[in-house]
Amino acid sequence: MNELIYSLNIRPHHFLCILGFRGLGYSEKFVSNMEEVAKKLRSDFTSFITLVLECDAICAACSHNVEGKCLKSDVSEVEVAAMDTKCLQKLGFKAGDSVSADEVWKRVKERITLEDIKEICRDCEWWELKYCLEGLKKLKIS
Ligand code: SF4
Ligand code: SF4
Repeated sequence: MNELIYSLNIRPHHFLCILGFRGLGYSEKFVSNMEEVAKKLRSDFTSFITLVLECDAICAACSHNVEGKCLKSDVSEVEVAAMDTKCLQKLGFKAGDSVSADEVWKRVKERITLEDIKEICRDCEWWELKYCLEGLKKLKIS
């Protein structure tokens, strides 16, 4: 296992990012770690994860993560927290909940609408690619 996956703490909006992940990212190190986390969460539905509103197993390999804070921009900590909070509310979980990946994917499929993802992701630089919207659409018809 990649040494950077020190735990399966996951911030909620990252489930949407995993749906849209096609090998792009902030650096080779980031992409390699993202691949590994995404593979685990998409294939091992029995894995348990803890939902967090802070830097997680994906942020662990990100160059914008400085001492556990997302410093991508002056406002990124606030923006990312807002995305996570919206996802958490939609999914009906609380921060700190320990849940199976299977249950999270089930709720993403049932509860996050295409309108929701547009609203949650509107300020993200990757949104225009539409990979994440397409990923959610694909999950909904699976
Ligand atoms: S648009 Fe950005 S924040 Fe939204 S799911 Fe995609 S990568 Fe994640
Ligand atoms: S940009 Fe911020 S929230 Fe996204 S992976 Fe990097 S540190 Fe985490």
